[in-house]
Amino acid sequence: MAHNNNDDIVFKPESPVQKKAPLRPEDSWHILIVDDDKEVHEVTRLALSRLTVLGRPLELHHTSSAAECLQFLEDRDNIAVILIDVVMETEDAGLSAVRYIRNTMARDEVRIILRTGQPGYAPEENVVQDYDINDYKTKSELTHSTLTTVMISSIRSYQQIRTINQNRKGLQKIINAGASLMEQHSLEEFSDGVITQISSLLGLRAEGLLCAQARLDEDAEQDDIYIMGAAGSYAPLIRHQLSRIDDTHISSLINTCLQQKQHLYTDAETVLYLGNEQHTAAVYLQTRCPISETDKALLQVFLSNITIGYENVKLFQELRVTAYTDPLTRLANRIEFTRLLQGRVDSEEARQVAVLVDIDHFSDINDGLGQETGNELLIAVASRLKMAFGDNCVVARVDADVFGIVGEEFNLSPQSILAIFESPFSTRDQVLSINATLGIGRLHELGDHGLTMLKRVYIALNSAKKENTRHFEYYSPEMEEAKEQRLQMIRQLRIDFALQKLRIWYQPQYDLKTRRIVCLEALLRWPQADGSFIPPGVFIPIAEYSGLIISIGAWVLENVCAQIAMFKAAGFKDLRIAVNVSMPQFRSPLFVPHVASALKRHNIANGELELEITESVMMDDPEALIQCLTKLKALGIRISIDDFGTGYSSLNYLRRLPLDKMKVDRSFIRDIGKPGGAVIAETIVHLGRQLGLVTIAEGIETAEQEQIMTDMGCVEAQGYYFAKPMPLEELAELLK
Ligand code: C2E
Ligand code: MG
Ligand code: MG
Repeated sequence: MAHNNNDDIVFKPESPVQKKAPLRPEDSWHILIVDDDKEVHEVTRLALSRLTVLGRPLELHHTSSAAECLQFLEDRDNIAVILIDVVMETEDAGLSAVRYIRNTMARDEVRIILRTGQPGYAPEENVVQDYDINDYKTKSELTHSTLTTVMISSIRSYQQIRTINQNRKGLQKIINAGASLMEQHSLEEFSDGVITQISSLLGLRAEGLLCAQARLDEDAEQDDIYIMGAAGSYAPLIRHQLSRIDDTHISSLINTCLQQKQHLYTDAETVLYLGNEQHTAAVYLQTRCPISETDKALLQVFLSNITIGYENVKLFQELRVTAYTDPLTRLANRIEFTRLLQGRVDSEEARQVAVLVDIDHFSDINDGLGQETGNELLIAVASRLKMAFGDNCVVARVDADVFGIVGEEFNLSPQSILAIFESPFSTRDQVLSINATLGIGRLHELGDHGLTMLKRVYIALNSAKKENTRHFEYYSPEMEEAKEQRLQMIRQLRIDFALQKLRIWYQPQYDLKTRRIVCLEALLRWPQADGSFIPPGVFIPIAEYSGLIISIGAWVLENVCAQIAMFKAAGFKDLRIAVNVSMPQFRSPLFVPHVASALKRHNIANGELELEITESVMMDDPEALIQCLTKLKALGIRISIDDFGTGYSSLNYLRRLPLDKMKVDRSFIRDIGKPGGAVIAETIVHLGRQLGLVTIAEGIETAEQEQIMTDMGCVEAQGYYFAKPMPLEELAELLK
């Protein structure tokens, strides 16, 4: 299509064209003369021999029949004009050939001039129209000068049709290219796409690269020019810094293009500028020849299209970053961490582990010191983890206070991770000493699905959190078995509860002065087929977790109330029974009405029922609990705080609770005989007295312990030294 803009028609000087530099086929117009009269060929050649049109000479081809003409056209698609005789093999052989060329061969660019030897024989007008025939002339009409004029106008119209068709194809390609580029959501895919599309637009093999200003290297101070996409022999250069590539010619061309913000065209290459205020890029293409004005115009349209695409890609990248990073710490988030685990399943590298790092008591820090400080702490931990392990491992934030690390086991020993928590962390106003607990899983033991893998490391973490001895645990399949066992246990508990197999035992509580039984604590027992019991310390947490404790608790309460009524009927005066109540029971809005109705049904008056609430339950939702306890108090129920000293009650809050009794936890009684071992028990007893509460010592096992507690001023006691929990039948003996 290359042409100059000189439309002048010139007859060349005498010297034959052939003697000049050898011509390439695309440098001339190809004209086909079809006639069974030899002389016509000769005359035509003479007439057209020196003609050039739009700067290009003519090259004539000769065939002598319609059949030969069609044969010739079969493998030529660059014929500009066909001069064809109507009457050859048959009366209308020429017309048939034309019909075939237009309809069957679908050649609509080539221009056709019909000639006939017989004046007066003219095809009908519709033939001229239907077969897009440029001119119809009798042979006598086609004089030297008319032939030249007809030829020039035909060639020009051929040229115009070609250009229009070419443009149309080009535009179609641009539309297709644009559509396919819009689907490329990574900058690399997009860049490759651009090169491929431009190459196909120009009809070239894809050879080139796309460079953009970016910051791929995190340590870089400012954006650098990087090769974002590359095709053909340039493919290996992808993601390289432009300044680092060997070919200085290419890099200087690209730099010039980006600096001057304009396209550069050389004889063998094209550098296109792509961009707006925010983003700039340059596309380097090896064209190996100059490209035409038409192609340049097409490129212009294409480039303005893809600038939008380029911005889309940038946007997608930003969205990607948001979707896969934690905004607070800028670390990979849980989704990304899960993807990462999955991606490393088949890794051939050395043994890899995934670690979850859970900050102990983070919620206390968050609640106590404020979210701001909590956030600062998380950022500080993130940066310390990154500093220690970021070079060889990936660090992520997987949950509010849980970080994830994945890397080689060699780099990730539990000791090396826990070591980073040895020195305190600084936030703006605080210096915080914190501990962490680790769950660790060896990737090859975790399965092959990202979410399952993460779940298993969590199982290890939870197991480490339950074990107070060391701060880490490796995942093992047995852990999951333990979990399975717990599920099995809850299924069995449900069944046995429905079959009324649970039993209530009673443990007496004594007045230390009179040594008389003043109260009984109701304690659940779960008998097994072999005569053993599963201890409540094991099954109560599971019942709480599954919600079954609500029905079980209601059943205990009902039984205890019935028992109180029976004791009263049997003449036991002032004998209270204490029932343990779990958090889920308190949370149920039906709890208070339920207790009220049980009391009424069994006609239980003031002070005969006591409820024990552990200290940790007290801290869960203080305001709701105060309301609930106040209502229970109004029903005449005594409230006892269980396991005191193991939770974290605020003293101020303790004062506001309507309590009657405080149970000193067994763990403080155990050591009271040892030097200095009585301090805490003593403090609690004092506190109880100050608050006006009855104090009771749990777990008295020796006479010495009883003595010390009595001396301290503790009011009541419960423990194996006095009596173990026992079934009702045994208790009857004791009460006599
Ligand atoms: P708790 O309320 O602190 O009950 C006291 C526990 O200490 C009982 O364990 C009792 O057998 C044990 N104990 C009493 N004296 C001694 C002693 O001198 N030495 C030792 N080593 N232990 C002593 P048990 O019966 O295994 O109950 C464990 C926990 O299960 C209870 O702790 C209570 O929190 C819970 N629990 C028991 N029954 C129920 C119930 O009906 N409902 C709810 N929600 N929890 C219950
Ligand atoms: Mg208790
Ligand atoms: Mg207790």
